[in-house]
Amino acid sequence: MSSNTPPLLEPEEHVLSTLERDGSRRWLKPKVSKGRFLNRRRWVAYGLIALFTLLPYIRINGRPAVLLDVIGREFHIFGGSFRPTDSLLLALLMLTTGLTIFLVTALLGRVWCGWACPQTVYMEYVFRPIERLFEGRRGVGGKPARPPAAWRTVAKYIVFFLICVHLAHIFMAYFVGVDQLFAWSRGNPLNHPFAFVIIAAVVGLMMFDFCFFREQLCIVACPYGRLQSVMIDKRSMIISYDPTRGEPRGKLGRKKRDALADKDKPEDERTVGLDILQQYGGDCIDCHECVTTCPTGIDIRDGLQLECIGCAQCIDACDPIMDKIGRPRGLIRYTSQEALAGQHTRILRPRVVIYPTMIAAVASLFLFILVTKAPADVTILRQAGMPFMLVESGQVQNTMRLKVVNRDNTTHSYTVSVKEPAGVTVAMVEGDTITLGPGESYTEPIRVLAHPGLFSDGRLSVTLTVTDGADYSEDTSFELLGPRDRTPSSTDEDPQEPGHE
Ligand code: SF4
Ligand code: SF4
Repeated sequence: MSSNTPPLLEPEEHVLSTLERDGSRRWLKPKVSKGRFLNRRRWVAYGLIALFTLLPYIRINGRPAVLLDVIGREFHIFGGSFRPTDSLLLALLMLTTGLTIFLVTALLGRVWCGWACPQTVYMEYVFRPIERLFEGRRGVGGKPARPPAAWRTVAKYIVFFLICVHLAHIFMAYFVGVDQLFAWSRGNPLNHPFAFVIIAAVVGLMMFDFCFFREQLCIVACPYGRLQSVMIDKRSMIISYDPTRGEPRGKLGRKKRDALADKDKPEDERTVGLDILQQYGGDCIDCHECVTTCPTGIDIRDGLQLECIGCAQCIDACDPIMDKIGRPRGLIRYTSQEALAGQHTRILRPRVVIYPTMIAAVASLFLFILVTKAPADVTILRQAGMPFMLVESGQVQNTMRLKVVNRDNTTHSYTVSVKEPAGVTVAMVEGDTITLGPGESYTEPIRVLAHPGLFSDGRLSVTLTVTDGADYSEDTSFELLGPRDRTPSSTDEDPQEPGHE
């Protein structure tokens, strides 16, 4: 930079809690504040880590509890199986989930972010503890004053890498199932390069997130975090500093001690004057414990902020300070904006009634469709590039593809027959029945034969019945194609005409 270039203007305050004033990264090393919420969150986190790990192994009705088989176009979710033909069911399921998120956020604010989101759970209860193990507990925000020994950093990243490999495999198990994953893990990556590349990419993304991007995912990338301002209202539960109690803040000197000791006493028992009380009487002693413990690097005393993930670490940091200075706990607490303003908070409000009503309606419709849905799916499609052909018997033959999906939990054998009209026959090409285990599907070519005289303007409406010989029977109608305006015989065949043999 030339000596004539004017110096860059510095911003008056941090633009982002993860940026220094000069725009460089502000690495956060939040101090761990032990307390009741940290303990409770730890148990929740360990439980969720166990659940996330075990879910792909758990089987319900012989199928994985959660399997999102995108390539096979089948989703198994807690005993229910969904296919592309179940778009209404999937839409209702997603709507129910979305409305539940709205309701939970309206009532409990960002409880998901602070207590259950996998990003928070793994970052705060796996990666940061390992980092502290290797690099020590600095306990202050901002860049480390002294970098740790190189071997510690290398060892930390090796452990991070191994954990990310493990997590990437768990992640993949949700999409391909544990059996497939074990088969891939034991085999040569060159035999399944696509899967190997996907897992390598997931490991890379996880390393990027947990080693570098970290809390910025919550602050700048997560759409749920950005939407919280429209999902919460003045009665939603938030974590907040109480400025009426805490201000004026100030360091703990003699005058502040005296003011705090006299604050709640009747006027005639006070030893300090009103001016001292007004100047020093705030409960906050400006110790910055709530700031240095915050995993997103914000100061809760600045009010409700988008960056706050509701982790309650600032509560655990501030309560012991209040104990030490003899003030009641809860200067930072779970509360609501309305309660902070001194108003009575009513849980019951329109959105708390409307959301559950909508959830009940949508979930009921979902369950009704799910329960009344047939135990098999039947689809009949035309064989590509072959409208019809005339066979030696003089009949018109349409070759179709019959796809049967067994949605039931037991094995069934399906047969197909013609319901109407009379004079039409059907035969499977590869056997008389299709036998399918639970969740299996099969596509079988079928030949449908009809006399040419049955066709009107080259078309004939046909209904086939697919049945398992027991409880299941489904009729499917479709149109056969045939010759127009004449009654051909087998001698009419034109070998050059497309669709004729
Ligand atoms: S921990 Fe409590 S007392 Fe200390 S700065 Fe934060 S709010 Fe004030
Ligand atoms: S402000 Fe408090 S609750 Fe919010 S993220 Fe920081 S420490 Fe957690």
